[in-house]
Amino acid sequence: MTSPILRIAVPSPLYQTFDYLPPPGCDPVTLQPGVRVRVPFGRRVIVGFLLELGADTTLDPALLRPAEAVLDVEPALPADVLALLNWAQRYYHHPPGEVFATALPVLLRQGEAAAPPRIPPLWRITPAGCAALADRSALRRAPAQRLLLEHLAQCPEGAETEALRPVVHASTAILRALHDKGWVALVAPPLHSEAVTASASLAQPLTLNAAQTTAIAAVAAELDRFGVFLLEGITGSGKTEVYLRLIEAVLAQGRQALVLTPEIGLTPQLLARFRERLPGPLAVLHSGLSDRERLNAWLLARSGTARAIIGTRSAIFAPLQSPGLLIVDEEHDASFKQQDGFRYHARDLAVVRAHQLGIPVVLGSATPALESINNAQSGRYRLLSLPERVGGGSPPPIEILDVRRQPLTEGLSLPLLARMRLHLARGEQVLLFLNRRGFAPVLFCHECGWLSQCQHCDARMTLHLRRQRLICHHCGDDRAVDPACPLCGSVDLRPIGQGTERLETALRREFPTVGIARMDRDSTRRRGSLETLLTEIHNGDRRLLIGTQMLAKGHHFPDVTLVGIIDADQGLYGVDFRASERLAQLILQVAGRAGRADKPGTVLIQTHHPDHPLLHTLTSQGYPAFAAAALAERREALLPPFAYQALLRAEAVDSERAIAFLKAARALAEPIADGLELLGPAPAPMERRAGRYRAHLLLQAARRQDLHRFLDRWIDQLWAQRPDRAVRWALDIDPIALY
Ligand code: ADP
Ligand code: ZN
Ligand code: ZN
Repeated sequence: MTSPILRIAVPSPLYQTFDYLPPPGCDPVTLQPGVRVRVPFGRRVIVGFLLELGADTTLDPALLRPAEAVLDVEPALPADVLALLNWAQRYYHHPPGEVFATALPVLLRQGEAAAPPRIPPLWRITPAGCAALADRSALRRAPAQRLLLEHLAQCPEGAETEALRPVVHASTAILRALHDKGWVALVAPPLHSEAVTASASLAQPLTLNAAQTTAIAAVAAELDRFGVFLLEGITGSGKTEVYLRLIEAVLAQGRQALVLTPEIGLTPQLLARFRERLPGPLAVLHSGLSDRERLNAWLLARSGTARAIIGTRSAIFAPLQSPGLLIVDEEHDASFKQQDGFRYHARDLAVVRAHQLGIPVVLGSATPALESINNAQSGRYRLLSLPERVGGGSPPPIEILDVRRQPLTEGLSLPLLARMRLHLARGEQVLLFLNRRGFAPVLFCHECGWLSQCQHCDARMTLHLRRQRLICHHCGDDRAVDPACPLCGSVDLRPIGQGTERLETALRREFPTVGIARMDRDSTRRRGSLETLLTEIHNGDRRLLIGTQMLAKGHHFPDVTLVGIIDADQGLYGVDFRASERLAQLILQVAGRAGRADKPGTVLIQTHHPDHPLLHTLTSQGYPAFAAAALAERREALLPPFAYQALLRAEAVDSERAIAFLKAARALAEPIADGLELLGPAPAPMERRAGRYRAHLLLQAARRQDLHRFLDRWIDQLWAQRPDRAVRWALDIDPIALY
């Protein structure tokens, strides 16, 4: 009797699976797809993933090596995740080993046992801790400790370490300090059912408005079959409340709900709201976790202990014991698309997963992607709208500020400054958005024209004045600022353009008595600094907020009544056809941070192109009208969603070789490219990055199946021709950026 062949996905960049014999002494009948297998690979031993048992092999059976050991009895990934990964591997045409590795926590990839986690013990405040809290002086110099103690004082049943994370950053270190002082203690968790009632009693029921009721009823009526619901509603219209009600309904059926949010949208406020409302442990999956925390959360999801799972992009692969509902919040957000390696789109995979599982998926956004709007119009998705802010109040009016020929003080026009003064004088808060961190995007020599060019990229190095560094935001290269021009020695070096650091400096001069909060990746690098900033904003110590994207998403600042967008022009004429869609989404997102019913906000957009038609439509008629106009343009130009694209990217130290590879790929494509348009090869918009030249070949088809039928044949041929090893290449299906 011949033994079966193990078809293994091995974490390698090769576009194939690898065949092995079962390990000695293993009864292959017991093997289920999805178990991890330790196998020799080249000179190493690595952990692979069993995809199937085959009867034959294309290799010489005498040369097959046996696997060393099978690591799991039960599959590490449930059958439905395997099905999703198989689908994704074929659709994205990506090497199977990397696809399957994406779905497993690092520790499991390294071969650790997938034992179910303990239910974590709880932290409780001790009587000594209560005394310390009462004695204000004891904690005067330790605000973070006080914050944690105050929080624990509100949780008589205790709180998990994970649940305390949103309260203060570095919470584990602070807990340890409190524990050393005897102010907190670790106690065994109560029985699961007790924990459930304890937290369920915290929920305060709201009376839903009519639009919310309709939306919830529509999804709740179809909980046991596949359907895609596009929940469109401006910020503050009650989308999160709709998610929570639906999750509660699914949990009540004994099933689980998986919520995806953008990395930056996973704010402490959102997590706190989920914890407060939903019974039982919540599994949280995001990139800030340690490998151990990630594995624990993952196992809690797989065992069904966690009833709701909330996570960023890769959480779409989370194993669920009894899935009942998928939700993608801010579904238009670009962070759902992985931008290197296995370039999947988590929102699109959520739709596939829901289909495979026969459950509904809710895609929510104030500014849905044009793809999703088109799907709603064509009837593939069901549109649910929440047209009004909860408690009334209209969304802030948006005004365009024409800054042509206007004097600008560090990028700020006089009318904007005047409005800021007005709002600040009333004791309100002002938010300024500028999507560029650092002091200035380029340093320039007035004597000879030298520019702070990066040596490795077709890009300028950004001046970070406080740190006295020039930093390339594309490759990370970093060097000290010379006091004199490296070319001519002149000291007349001038920073050109605005960054958040420069804006902050200018505003300190302009508004010396107002507390300013700058929120960008530089100012929030230190752990805990973001939380401190948010606290100071919410208690009104800081009333002038400046920031990048980080300020634009997730947070809500009810006392902000004026929002200024310093520079809208970058987005208007970008090289990418999606630039205007992104700009519109960003503008509304920033606008959505502001105001509440009794204090409506205003949004001012500074631009040199006040007559730009899309900007006009957006500000005068709102996002749906903008989306309709933008979709009409796309249809006219035969661009997505009215065409399907794939991008073959290549990069090499030598620009000729990247292009040569793409030319050869094009030659292979031409005879089989029925119904396709081939564009390029062409250099990427930023051709050189981190010392490598980048180019691409764009493939486009009017029908998706034409594109994929072609790709199935072409990708095999590409691998078969043994491409130049000096060229790194990758296929990007449904690319969302062409750089
Ligand atoms: P979104 O997710 O669309 O921004 P939220 O669900 O966060 O909106 O709702 C905005 C605010 O209104 C939240 O503070 C929420 O608690 C509150 N809210 C939502 N629905 C209702 C309701 N039906 N009645 C009263 N308050 C509500
Ligand atoms: Zn010079
Ligand atoms: Zn660089």
